Amino acid sequence: MDKFYHIVTYGCQMNVHESEKIAGILSGMGYKSCDDPEKADIVVFNTCCIRENAENHAFGNIGMLKKLKRVRKDMIIAVGGCLPQQMNKAENLHEKFPYVDIIFGTHNLHNLKELIEKKLNSKKTVIEIEDSEGEICEEDRPLRTSYPNAWVNIMYGCNNFCSYCIVPYVRGRERSRQSAKIIEEVKGLVREGYKEITLLGQNVNSYKGDLTFPQLLEEVAKTEGKFRIRFMTSHPKDFSPELIDVMAKYPKICNCLHLPVQSGSDSILKAMNRRYTSGQYLEKVALLKSRIPDCAITTDLIVGFPGETDEDFNVTMDLVKKVNFASAFTFVYSKRQGTKAAEMPDQIPEEVSKSRIMQLVDLVNSQTRALSQTYIGKTVEILCEDYDDKRKLYLGRDEYGRMGYFPSEQNVIGQFVNIKVEHANGVSLTGNIVV
Ligand code: SF4
Repeated sequence: MDKFYHIVTYGCQMNVHESEKIAGILSGMGYKSCDDPEKADIVVFNTCCIRENAENHAFGNIGMLKKLKRVRKDMIIAVGGCLPQQMNKAENLHEKFPYVDIIFGTHNLHNLKELIEKKLNSKKTVIEIEDSEGEICEEDRPLRTSYPNAWVNIMYGCNNFCSYCIVPYVRGRERSRQSAKIIEEVKGLVREGYKEITLLGQNVNSYKGDLTFPQLLEEVAKTEGKFRIRFMTSHPKDFSPELIDVMAKYPKICNCLHLPVQSGSDSILKAMNRRYTSGQYLEKVALLKSRIPDCAITTDLIVGFPGETDEDFNVTMDLVKKVNFASAFTFVYSKRQGTKAAEMPDQIPEEVSKSRIMQLVDLVNSQTRALSQTYIGKTVEILCEDYDDKRKLYLGRDEYGRMGYFPSEQNVIGQFVNIKVEHANGVSLTGNIVV
């Protein structure tokens, strides 16, 4: 009889890709994917703890399976990822949700098969949280679910310890894969027909394998075939002129860069331990724009960091105006126990943060909308990724990351198509295929 798995993923692209690795392990064990947790023999929650609401969301959904587990005692519930990797969280999870069968940390993913087998032979909850990172496991074969896009991990962990961030505590120190393994993986993916490769890492441009990150990117860009290359996430302090040179040299590398600035205030950047000033960030942006004038720059911004004054917030708004970001992820600071910022005085009242985030979102949205309007009448190349059943339109992205919708008689998923843009709505474009 067929056995089914259902994976619930929270958080960043790294987690999305790790869920593909979990799917690879489960399908290797003979399980098939299903969309309905009620039909699944195993449900895996791949969790995130970067913000309090991601954690609460996961808790809520794990709690919802309690009734189901009472009826289906043989169903396995596994909770993995960043949430249980935090100090004492695995024990808390076990106390709060005693019906969870397996709890595993970020460094134990590649042991999932053994953990499931252990659980199948035992009534006890199986808990495995490795503290140290160990060797990079090259054996995991992801079951990719995002054709024509493929994610390729080039490094794991982070050494930066930004004062608000829990990632270095749950993902460990930086470890980079050897370039030959990465290039081999990319070549294989291109041969299989993937059209967009994203090199992934918490701090991708501090990659330190046997090559530097610009050298690795150049080697990847030399791979033959028509495909696009993206990389994320870049830290501004590690974003170098050499990297800009490689981006400018190879058309395969998208003219698109996610460069999180977080704040425009130097005192807040210092308190965040970001290790650059707003001036240095702007210099790097200016250099990038001088070499690649049409490069779309996107960012992350945090408001309400402890001690953020009105003046600090205003300089952040000024920086956003100067850079004119193509889009931005905007966040209200979320206190994470165990980080330095959680202990800082002058935590910002919620109503102040709310007012600031609304102003920031308005500004970012107006910039994004204005940029979208400049597309009207232009022809852009879209890599078709999916079909929207509701809108009855195909959709995909251009190299700048902008979403484009269009009708087509043929299934063009996985193909590059040129569309002439007729409408622009917020971050998305609508048009018709032109030949
Ligand atoms: S660079 Fe900073 S924000 Fe990014 S993962 Fe590392 S510690 Fe967190």
